[in-house]
Amino acid sequence: MGDRERGAVAGRDRRPRPDEMADQRALEQMCFRNLLATPGERVFFKDLESRFLLVSDSFLLDQAHSCNIAEVIGKSDFDFFSDEHALAAFEDEQRIVHTGEPMVAKIERETFRDRADAWVSTTKLPLRDGDGRIVGTFGISRDVTAQVLAEQALAHQALHDAVTGLANRLALMDRLSQALISLDRSQGRVGVLFVDLDDFKVINDSLGHEAGDRVLVEVARRLSRISRRGDTVARFGGDEFVLLCSALRDDDDLRLIASRAVRAIGERFVHAGNDLTVSGSIGVVVTDDPSASPGVLLQQADIAMYEAKSAGRDGFRFFDAELRARAATNHDFDAAVCKAIENRELFLLYQPLFSLESQTLRGAEALVRWEHPRRGIIAPADFIPLAEERGLIGAVDGFVLDEACRQLAQWMREGQYPDSFTVAVNLSGRQLSDPTLVERIARSIRDHGIVPSQICLEITETALIGELGDAATTLAALSDLGVRLALDDFGTGYSTLAHVQRLNVDILKIDRSFVEQIGGSDRDRQIIGAITAMAHALGMLVVGEGIETDRQLGELTALGCDEGQGFLLARPVRPDQVAAFNRGTGGMVHRDAVAPPVSR
Ligand code: C2E
Ligand code: MG
Ligand code: MG
Repeated sequence: MGDRERGAVAGRDRRPRPDEMADQRALEQMCFRNLLATPGERVFFKDLESRFLLVSDSFLLDQAHSCNIAEVIGKSDFDFFSDEHALAAFEDEQRIVHTGEPMVAKIERETFRDRADAWVSTTKLPLRDGDGRIVGTFGISRDVTAQVLAEQALAHQALHDAVTGLANRLALMDRLSQALISLDRSQGRVGVLFVDLDDFKVINDSLGHEAGDRVLVEVARRLSRISRRGDTVARFGGDEFVLLCSALRDDDDLRLIASRAVRAIGERFVHAGNDLTVSGSIGVVVTDDPSASPGVLLQQADIAMYEAKSAGRDGFRFFDAELRARAATNHDFDAAVCKAIENRELFLLYQPLFSLESQTLRGAEALVRWEHPRRGIIAPADFIPLAEERGLIGAVDGFVLDEACRQLAQWMREGQYPDSFTVAVNLSGRQLSDPTLVERIARSIRDHGIVPSQICLEITETALIGELGDAATTLAALSDLGVRLALDDFGTGYSTLAHVQRLNVDILKIDRSFVEQIGGSDRDRQIIGAITAMAHALGMLVVGEGIETDRQLGELTALGCDEGQGFLLARPVRPDQVAAFNRGTGGMVHRDAVAPPVSR
């Protein structure tokens, strides 16, 4: 022991100890009285029959009409609390009396005869006499209403959506898991309705978020109204809701609920004096398999919802055998496309493009092919649309652009082509809304050290319909990079030349379907002539696609079309075969000049 501690003990020893002032009994009484006066702590002593022997001041104060101790002694909980609560307390105390086991910090809800409920944390112990015999119980309870309510609020917040008050995604996943587990014990089915509002973005954008929130709250109310007891209505995110139904007898139950939901969402909705049209598309999945995965079920309901949307919205669709088969193919497809890019199963053919006037090679269009290990060579028409739908087109087009830039750089290094030689790359219209597109293209061009104007990006006309806002901005940014832009398959969409003019497009590619008819009637010839003249007036170059006959070639040349592409002139070929078409001013080479291409 150090000096300081010794000093402290000595100092303490010098002071008279409290127990020296009075006898032990008086001290105990003093402490006990203080304990009973502790604010907020309800202390109570009871006999073997749970009648009060003694209670603390705060127990007396806590009663509705604060009473004095004489009014409490000899009474029981039944005189102060609800029968239900008094009975529970009595049972706890009888157990303690018989077993001698304490009850520690039990959080219980106290219900009173004449005032609001409270939450308390109660500890109860056996009350023993001098010989250690149990003669009753004693306990301390503390009001924890504020803490319990705060915890409940936090738990509510964690599991509920703030706007609609519905269960949130977390709560839904938990309840869906519980519902599936309960399939083990009970017969019946679990159904999931995945609801997505149609055109909600339009409401949000045109009327503001407040109106959007009002719609969400109203839809939540309507879905809750049509749901059955025990069902869960959840907000899954944005404008998506999920209705979880358990204890279904058959699919018809769910069909009924789904059609009610569609009708309820579509009911008249008035906001700020305006009638709003709200509708929803619903995907439905049902299972009786307790081992089903909640995540997979939601995914399936989501797939079915998209089907309902493409079938015209404002309706529902079950996830059935057909969708299941399609989903399985999609799943295989996704994995296969990712692997194809990784394993370099994708490769490019190049279809030469010629100047019609000088009959010289002007460039080549890169066209992707997929050499599938089992299925052989797959044409773009057989996988590009699916890749677009599955959100994988960015990866495919990214590969194509990078490979085309690499090839162009190699050709230019080898010095076979003039500086005006261009390589055209097709870009899926979906990519125009990808904010990383411009940067990715800029990087490919930079990485391969090529001149931007030697790259031409082809965008199909149909891709531009509808989302002109975003597309125009992206096209302007691409144009600023210095690359050339071509409008592909012109004539298959509905764009007017005025519309095209606003898009910074340099080249117009007249679709094969037009070129095919050129020999047919004067009218078709006149149309192509007019398009060409107007495009020229707007400073655009015109390319005729799909030239298969000498007649088509002759007509297009006569009508002033600048460049041409087609099987008559050259089929898509391997990169090393392009040079065979580069005969300086020696004229165009007939398709038979080179070995037959790999495909098409
Ligand atoms: P497109 O860009 O209009 O490409 C021209 C298509 O017409 C090519 O088919 C080409 O082989 C074919 N073609 C060329 N001349 C003739 C002809 O004289 N007669 C006939 N009947 N056909 C001719 P391909 O290679 O099957 O490509 C089809 C479409 O797939 C392309 O149309 C393009 O829209 C898309 N595509 C091709 N490669 C890619 C790519 O890398 N990315 C994206 N997003 N789309 C691509
Ligand atoms: Mg093209
Ligand atoms: Mg085309």
